[in-house]
Amino acid sequence: MTTTHPKQDFRDYFVGVDVATPTLDGSTRRYVNLDNAASTPPLRSVQQAVNDFMTYYSSVHRGTGFKSQLCTHAYEQSRQVVMDFLGANPAEHTCIFGKNTTEAINKLARRFPFTSQRDLVLTTGMEHHSNDLPWRSAAEVIHVGLTPDGQLDEAKFDAQLEANARRVALVAVTGASNVTGFINPIHRLAEKAHAVGAQILVDCAQLAPHRKVEMRPLDDPAHLDYVAISAHKMYAPYGVGALVGRRDTFEHGDPDMRGGGTVEIVTLEDVVWAEPPDRDEAGSPNTVGAIALAAAIAQLTTIGMEEVARHEAALTAYALDRLAKIPQLLIYGDSDPARASERLGVIPLQLKNIPHFKAAAVLGYEFAIGVRSGCFCAHPYILHLLGITPEEARRVRARMLARDKSEMPGLFRASFGLYNTFEDIDLFAEALENIANGRYQGKYVQDKASGEYRPLGWAPDYDQYFSINKH
Ligand code: PMP
Repeated sequence: MTTTHPKQDFRDYFVGVDVATPTLDGSTRRYVNLDNAASTPPLRSVQQAVNDFMTYYSSVHRGTGFKSQLCTHAYEQSRQVVMDFLGANPAEHTCIFGKNTTEAINKLARRFPFTSQRDLVLTTGMEHHSNDLPWRSAAEVIHVGLTPDGQLDEAKFDAQLEANARRVALVAVTGASNVTGFINPIHRLAEKAHAVGAQILVDCAQLAPHRKVEMRPLDDPAHLDYVAISAHKMYAPYGVGALVGRRDTFEHGDPDMRGGGTVEIVTLEDVVWAEPPDRDEAGSPNTVGAIALAAAIAQLTTIGMEEVARHEAALTAYALDRLAKIPQLLIYGDSDPARASERLGVIPLQLKNIPHFKAAAVLGYEFAIGVRSGCFCAHPYILHLLGITPEEARRVRARMLARDKSEMPGLFRASFGLYNTFEDIDLFAEALENIANGRYQGKYVQDKASGEYRPLGWAPDYDQYFSINKH
């Protein structure tokens, strides 16, 4: 089937999106990456910025030499770019660079000013583990319930907030789900949190690459107090993430990690901590990562986040429409193409007749289509979406603890990035039609311990494509 689609202009902006990779029958096919909710390929402008920067790369925050000063200047400029992108301002906010969203949220969990009166975190049942587990070790946590299709149940949120109005210190909520792509009404939740004297963190790992995020000034009742992002989901995979948040929080208290860079004065008797953000960036920072993130933001801003959202909504609407024509396919979350612009391009799926691990494997090995399958670091959410009863969950848990994941519940997920095209979706849908109808050739063997499937005879020579020894 050949379909004519509008020309898409974004592929040329990206590195490696037209590369052919091997498949089981010995041929190669253009690799179609539909796993952007996990990580995205780099923008060309990011790769170029990093290359250009390498000429001047040197120590940051230390040396007196020109290169050191230039690096410090570029690093601090990157901080400002991130703050501007998120609508933060240096009088009220600080930007702390770290590894990723997970590190950012762990830091906030250790640095948040809980008090004996305000010691409770209100989060939701749709969170990634990275915005759930850090809170469990920092405070008492309430997980607000969901609607059957997996959206935050705002009536339940309101009831929990009201019932615990004096104790809620923080609302910790995802901006958008990495499983269903549902977008939360973050500013409305912020207003409600502030009305009871709580603050709000929005996990923007998924939202920031696809939508404009506006933290807004602190005197706006709908402002966001903290935002966490990961550059590897924003086309800048150089190992950096950022926590942008209220300066006053990080002006107080001891840093969670101590060492070089965090201090003003050290004597053998005492320590005076540095002002934010230095207090919270122990050790030598990831200067290259910060510059890469700033370069990605510059490119996304030039394209325009409205344009990013428009293109991705068109892809999502097209995909939902196309996938609905495959009778063996179940679409979770919201499957209505008319509402595509209200959510992200993340689509959780299941084939009725094939386990999720196997469907994902065949897509990869035979059709060169990269997706992810399993529980997407959101076990409670997946159990909810699949409607798994507590008894079933206990049975599965016992098997998993006995190192058998062969029947692990889960889904497989297609997630779109800015460079994906309608043709990518056609290829995906055609591959699913083939798989659903048994039109694949591999003999797949499941590894019980991981649950994953591999076809017999698969032995690609990875060194032919990339070898560390050749560099
Ligand atoms: N939150 C959400 C919603 C995510 O999708 C992810 C990554 N899948 C994370 C947090 C964690 O991000 P990272 O692995 O970059 O720390």
